[in-house]
Amino acid sequence: MCRASAAAATEPDRELLEPREVPLGGPRAMLVRRTLPNRDRRMVGAWCFADNYGPAHIQGQPGMQVPPHPHIGLQTVSWLLEGEVLHRDSLGTTQLIQPGELNLMTAGRGISHSEESPPNHGAVLHGAQLWVALPNEHRHTDPRFESYGDLPLLTDVGGTCRVLMGQVADTSSPARTYSPLVGADVSIVPGGVLRLPLEREFEHAVLALSEGVAVDGQPLTNGTMLYLGRDRRDVSLHAPVAARALLLGGTPFDEDLVMWWNFVGRSHEEVVEARSDWESGRAAGPTDRFGVVHGYGGPALAAPELPHVALKARSRFRRRET
Ligand code: MN
Repeated sequence: MCRASAAAATEPDRELLEPREVPLGGPRAMLVRRTLPNRDRRMVGAWCFADNYGPAHIQGQPGMQVPPHPHIGLQTVSWLLEGEVLHRDSLGTTQLIQPGELNLMTAGRGISHSEESPPNHGAVLHGAQLWVALPNEHRHTDPRFESYGDLPLLTDVGGTCRVLMGQVADTSSPARTYSPLVGADVSIVPGGVLRLPLEREFEHAVLALSEGVAVDGQPLTNGTMLYLGRDRRDVSLHAPVAARALLLGGTPFDEDLVMWWNFVGRSHEEVVEARSDWESGRAAGPTDRFGVVHGYGGPALAAPELPHVALKARSRFRRRET
């Protein structure tokens, strides 16, 4: 196990990770803000992908329209603050995702799903979708979809903390995890301060889901992430107005990953095979691996072309040249 130097341990890292705007899905794409992977900081614990969106005013608009597409090697974590998203997957699940419910899809060796704002959707959409990389020993597990509507809530005068994944203090989420990690939705009351205890073996980050939140005194704009390093006892969030943020953390993920399109693998060849399995299913009918999503009103997404050079496995952060 590689440990940070003594100097680094006493002086926790602090990196502001700015989002980039990315169109989600096909031609009717909605723009989302992506903070992970970031150029220098690709992961926080096993969290390898972080999109957030809104609050977006989508009255009379398509909203989110992501046709059927495949995943391998990850869990998708869907969390809404406002609005609703209709999820369908190749296991036969149809689930209307609503605020306050954690929707957790474990891709394992292969699954496909679609996500859409339903026809009579609400006026506002606000939420996040994150991916958790599955560790090598679990990444070929059976696909499954789980919805958790009754997650534990920690309350304090400064606000509340809903434990989505892992645990905060002594309070644990029932959600299925495959590596030590935490994910929590923090809600600050106007003028409130909330101090959350942290697991010292973890690295952590806070993703702002509204304006106004400050982390250890540093203000964040909506959609930005502050990486906090590891070996911290706690973190303090405050806000002059009502504010929301996600606390993310976990044991630093030591496996190098090949992340391409919707796949999290370990090698170029593995990603090529997953792409080929998806494309052959689109051309010739459902494969055992990715199945079929019933009920979506349009064709499945085509995989993009692979780059002309082999995909390389990359570490959780950019290795500095010496
Ligand atoms: Mn997806």
